Amino acid sequence: MFIPKRIIFEKEALDYDLGKEIYNKFKENDKVKIIKLTSNKVKQHIPGEDVPSQYKEGKKTLVVGVKKSLKFQTCKPSAHYQLPLVSGCMGQCEYCYLNTKLGDKPFAKVHANIDDILNQAQKYINERLPEITIFEGAATSDPIPVEPYTHSLEKAIVFFGKDENARFRFVTKFNDVDSLINLEHNGHTEVRFSINTSSVINKYEHATASRDKRIEASMKMAKAGYPVGFLIAPVFIYPNWKEEYHDLLVELKDKLPEDLKFPVTFEIISHRYTTTAKNIILQVFPKNELPMNDEERKFKYGQFGYGKYVYPKENIDAIKEFFKKEIETLFENKEIKYII
Ligand code: SF4
Repeated sequence: MFIPKRIIFEKEALDYDLGKEIYNKFKENDKVKIIKLTSNKVKQHIPGEDVPSQYKEGKKTLVVGVKKSLKFQTCKPSAHYQLPLVSGCMGQCEYCYLNTKLGDKPFAKVHANIDDILNQAQKYINERLPEITIFEGAATSDPIPVEPYTHSLEKAIVFFGKDENARFRFVTKFNDVDSLINLEHNGHTEVRFSINTSSVINKYEHATASRDKRIEASMKMAKAGYPVGFLIAPVFIYPNWKEEYHDLLVELKDKLPEDLKFPVTFEIISHRYTTTAKNIILQVFPKNELPMNDEERKFKYGQFGYGKYVYPKENIDAIKEFFKKEIETLFENKEIKYII
């Protein structure tokens, strides 16, 4: 569970039950500074004299706000809409895709007006009837570390569980799932766990749950009947990569229940970076050891109009061949969504 160093309440956040609950939970905790804003200038309350310290202080900050614009962003190709419960994440993964999106003080923010957000989701569901509408809960966040005191996912899972025409999905690198286990999800929420080898997690994924804890959490969700998937990303090529990814897959296979209600899904993404991301990573993590030598990579234009440095074709082919063969051999009730 994420215990922030400071919690900043935006104007009006304390008018909502969730705002009050978070305030009451932390108001007596001397280690957590409570700031009530009179304007909505959040960043001036987050210290830091250089880029790395601003990043670290931002990551220790929780903002409780109110989602004013209820126009949801689209979320192709994995879902129809983003569900804006939480933005940001307290994890400190060196390669995080959010590094280019959250600015120099990347705080986590929860929206206190969850009922407004779910009411809006209902409008989007109604508009698309009789089609099913899919919502993504982790497009700009990892929503799990704040869940023990926001209960936002809990409300969303129960809400979507009642609706045959709605589906919900999110992905996490954390393990605070106990409050989600006994919910009436009706198989409408798919939980994906972002997982990697211990070498990769220990080297690059700071302030996240360990590999063992993520696996344990994924098994709890699978046993609770949720559709469960694994996002193995980013895949790195390094000495022993095949042995270590093999061990990881074997462990998943051994621990998954045999009577899965839904096929376990796999999404495999090889490491890639943009020049913008690389420049930010070099400032925030000046000592990082991420493999980002442009000469060793292939430059490829992506579907969103900007270029990325991906592994050369022979490496990508090796990754595809390895994971396809391993997953096909080890798992029975499974679906490989993509290997890229
Ligand atoms: Fe980014 Fe996910 Fe790591 Fe959080 S856990 S820092 S969202 S990669």
